Amino acid sequence: MAERTHDCIVVGGGPAGLMLGLLLARAGVRTAVLERHGDFLRDFRGDTIHPSTQQLLHEIGLLERFLALPHADLPQVSMRFSGRRLVLADFSRLPTVRQCIAFMPQWDFLDLLADAGREQAAFDLRMRCDATALLRDGERVVGVVADAPEGPVELRARLTVLADGRDSRLRSDAGLEPVGAPSAIDVLWFRVPREPGESVTFMQLGDGALLSIDRGDFFQAAHIVRRGAWRGDEASLAALRRRVGALEPSFAARLAGLRLDDVRVLRVRIDRLPRWYRDGLLAIGDAAHAMSPAGGVGINLAIQDAVAAANALGPRLASARPSEALLHRIQRRREPPARIVQAVQRRLETMLVRVAEPGTRVPVPLPLRVVQRVPALRHLLGRFIGLGPRPEHATR
Ligand SMILES: Cc1cc2nc3c(=O)[nH]c(=O)nc-3n(C[C@H](O)[C@H](O)[C@H](O)COP(=O)(O)OP(=O)(O)OC[C@H]3O[C@@H](n4cnc5c(N)ncnc54)[C@H](O)[C@@H]3O)c2cc1C
Repeated sequence: MAERTHDCIVVGGGPAGLMLGLLLARAGVRTAVLERHGDFLRDFRGDTIHPSTQQLLHEIGLLERFLALPHADLPQVSMRFSGRRLVLADFSRLPTVRQCIAFMPQWDFLDLLADAGREQAAFDLRMRCDATALLRDGERVVGVVADAPEGPVELRARLTVLADGRDSRLRSDAGLEPVGAPSAIDVLWFRVPREPGESVTFMQLGDGALLSIDRGDFFQAAHIVRRGAWRGDEASLAALRRRVGALEPSFAARLAGLRLDDVRVLRVRIDRLPRWYRDGLLAIGDAAHAMSPAGGVGINLAIQDAVAAANALGPRLASARPSEALLHRIQRRREPPARIVQAVQRRLETMLVRVAEPGTRVPVPLPLRVVQRVPALRHLLGRFIGLGPRPEHATR
């Protein structure tokens, strides 16, 4: 079996893994990022790049390149709730370089991070490289075994970082088991063909919930249902057509062409690891705390984890193995923001479950009505969504 040695191995080329790999490589840490897919072209993923992440891109000199890519700016989070237009959050007063969420297909954003990484001599991105097991020396994790295009390979490093997402296989190999109740909602994803120049309201709530993301020649649509409500049969498909058609009547005719195979079910999870590390190993991003799509903040939290980890590890990792105390400090810094956001997501899901119940036209909830009357609250929510509870800054 071929063998390679690095200072750090990052398993997973999602937002957390690529950002960590890029920042460590900039600090001179020889870092391998392993991604099991051959590209970043994954549909049905988060697309929101929040003001905190754009600020980070500015700090590391990538904002101009980011803004040159096709994107759409969202200065406020607004929605239609039972026919009424409401504003939930306003970013206009944020102390950041940009005061908006940027919508960008996740693959473009990941390509940008990967390209910036490849410009660093210490960055080694290995695509189609599937980490299958941890390597150990006694209790200590010393790397991974992976299936690579050239065959099986052993990759050794002072630190292995699991940034392999909510379905992380390797964390149970490390004895790290997540805790948390399953989410009460599932998300049904499908495409609706888009006419040139057509626009629809991004978020619609009432008798059901629908999100529609403009993807050029189609809308990527997300319909929220009660957990387990989708049975994968013609009756479920007919219910989807009926409810989505009622929320967005302009979609109704086009939904006739939708087939069962076109609908992807995403089982939402909110969980977290009680312990994010072992000797020689650290978990970050969704691998440490799976986020619900509610609020669309998962990418940004994953990136903040990566920045905090790079700030703590960058100066030492090129020459020394990080102590468990240092890994513990990273968890202590990043766990509270993740827990606060997850608690808010659970509250939001309570409302979404009521909305998802067929035949219930839910009235606008009181907190949302209050937010309409008090603009300061919209700015406060803009701060919570746009920056998160503990925004991180790149130190190099
Ligand atoms: C339906 C849905 C919609 C969402 N919408 C939004 C949104 O709009 N905005 C937002 O901010 N967040 C959103 N989120 C949350 C967001 O997608 C996640 O929180 C975020 O992607 C986590 O990033 P990550 O880098 O930790 O993990 P991931 O993005 O899951 O990346 C993990 C990577 O690791 C790779 N990998 C896994 N195992 C291995 C292995 N063994 N070897 C090599 N590679 C491996 C995977 O292929 C993947 O590329 C959404 C989540 C869901 C479920």
